[in-house]
This record gives sequence, structure tokens and C-alpha cells, in this order.
Amino acid sequence: MVKSRIPAPRRSLLLGASALLGTSALLVACGAQSSPSAAGDAAHRPAVPSASTGTTGAAGGTSSVAARPTPGEGEEATAAPVRTPEPSASSTAPASPYASPTPSAPRTTAVPSPPAGSTAAPAQPSAHAPATGVLRHTASGGRTVALTFDDGPGPATGPVLDLLAQYGAKATFCEIGDNAKARPAAVQRILAEGHRLCDHTVDHPQPMHTRSHEQQVAEIGDAKSMIEAAAGNNPAITWWRAPGGDFTAENERIGADLGMKSLGWTVDPRDWSRPGVQAIVSNVQQNLRPGGVVLMHDGGGDRSQTVAALKQLLPWLVAQGYSFDFPQS
Ligand SMILES: [Zn+2]
Repeated sequence: MVKSRIPAPRRSLLLGASALLGTSALLVACGAQSSPSAAGDAAHRPAVPSASTGTTGAAGGTSSVAARPTPGEGEEATAAPVRTPEPSASSTAPASPYASPTPSAPRTTAVPSPPAGSTAAPAQPSAHAPATGVLRHTASGGRTVALTFDDGPGPATGPVLDLLAQYGAKATFCEIGDNAKARPAAVQRILAEGHRLCDHTVDHPQPMHTRSHEQQVAEIGDAKSMIEAAAGNNPAITWWRAPGGDFTAENERIGADLGMKSLGWTVDPRDWSRPGVQAIVSNVQQNLRPGGVVLMHDGGGDRSQTVAALKQLLPWLVAQGYSFDFPQS
């Protein structure tokens, strides 16, 4: 696996991502992933050595962010607003619509019977790739971390890649199909620099599980095709991540049928909500455990805080003895 032990960091000039704001929308943000994240962390924690501390991820203090800036989807909204609702979130408790304690828990109520002829229609569960549950661990385990960046590519992707390169870090980019289509050069750079791609749907529908079976098949399958087309070299895309972490038995199976595993996370600093650079840094520092998967964002609005936080986190990770890995697959 790619485990790069990092050379001496160099300083760099970073430009914050251009600001593209939208209205806040709990439902549209990856930040809505907070809830499943917390649950996921809880689920993950027992498997992880150490730490008695509290909550990993969003469950932490930042969950009380009141003013909710634009979640992830500011940019791609221009690219494909079609199925992406942008409800204005109010003062909003982070306890999100995804209150299900287990993100991977089947929401069987949402499973419609697919029409005859649908290729992905699970007539017999056994006839399909098994939904193996949501992955929340690095491939290699040990003192490794998997950094993941969602909702891009966007203006911040370049600065994120610059920083990763400085520290020899590898990461996984969960891309929105529309954004990949709009920025193929960024997709190609990600691959050229040794990172990997993950399918994050065509246009980030939320909540994912309320979409029809056919819509979910299209969201996941079309995004995979769009990212592959943008990359241009038939890259292996072996994970997908539901917007908001809204995994269900149904959409996990859709992903599995397309050859992708469901990728969760263990640490969610809610960078999309722009809680402040130090809040992002502290959240990761307090909640990361060896083998963990960190969720951040390179798309969906002004990601300057994310970039600034990453600039602190990368040397910290190195100093802590972490090496960089991809998620389990
Ligand atoms: Zn997202």
C-alpha cells in the first residue's frame, strides 16, 4: 500500500479556495454526514486500539456550529442543480436527518421493488455482490491514516494536492460526477500524483435514501462513468460514498453491483461548515485513531479553512508517526 513516510516539509504559499457560497443546507452538505459519522465512529472505535476519549468526528464539539455556511454543494450547484435540493437550514441542530445510529443499517422502508428489467434490481439478494458494510478503516492498519476529500474537484483541489505532495501524502478523492466532468484536468492530476478516486454520485442528492431505486442506480453508476471519462485512462474506482453518509442496504448493494465498496469515515471535523481552522485541526487531532479515515472537503464552496487546516495537520500527522494509506478495499 502506499505508505509514504514524509520528507521534511517545505513551506508553501497557499491560496485559499475561491469562495463560492450558497445557502446553508444541512441536507446538502457532507456535513450532514455528521450524524452517521458519529455513529460510525462509535462503531469503529471498538476496533481501534487506544483511546478512551470521547467522540470521534462530528460528534465532537464542533457539532454545535450554529451558523451553517454553505455546505458542500455551492459549486456543483451551478453545474447540476437538478436533483440537489438546497433547503435553507435554520438554526439547526446537527442531529441530522441521518439519526440512524448505524449508517449502514438497512433502511428497508425505502427499498422499493425495482421494475422488471432493471439490471440492478435485486430479485435475489444472493444474485448480487454482497453489501459488505461501510468501510471505516485503512487498508494496512497500524499507525496509518486515510485522508479523504469530498465534493470536488473544485478550486481547492489544486492547493490540497500541492500540500499532499509536499508531505508525500496520498489521499482518496470522493468526487461528484458533475464536478469531475467540469474539471477533468484536476481528476487527471489526482491520479497522476498517486491518489485514488471514489464515486460520490452525480450531483450529491440528499437524502440519498429517499430517491427511487432507479435514481440511486443512476446517481452512483453515472457518476462512476463520468469520473472515469474525466480521468481518461479507465482508473479503478473501488469505493463510493453516499452523500451525507446516507448508506442503506439498498444503495450499498447498488454500489457493490458496480464493483465499489461503501466508504465511510471515522473522523469528521465538519470542515464544510467552516468552524475555523483551529477547530478543524483540533477535531482531527483529538479524534483520530490509528487506522482511521478522515473526512474533509476539496469542493462545495470556500475551502480555505480546510486547506489551512491541512497545512497544520500534515506535519502533525508526520510528527505523530502516521503514514498515509488508502481505505480498506
Ligand atoms: Zn459530499
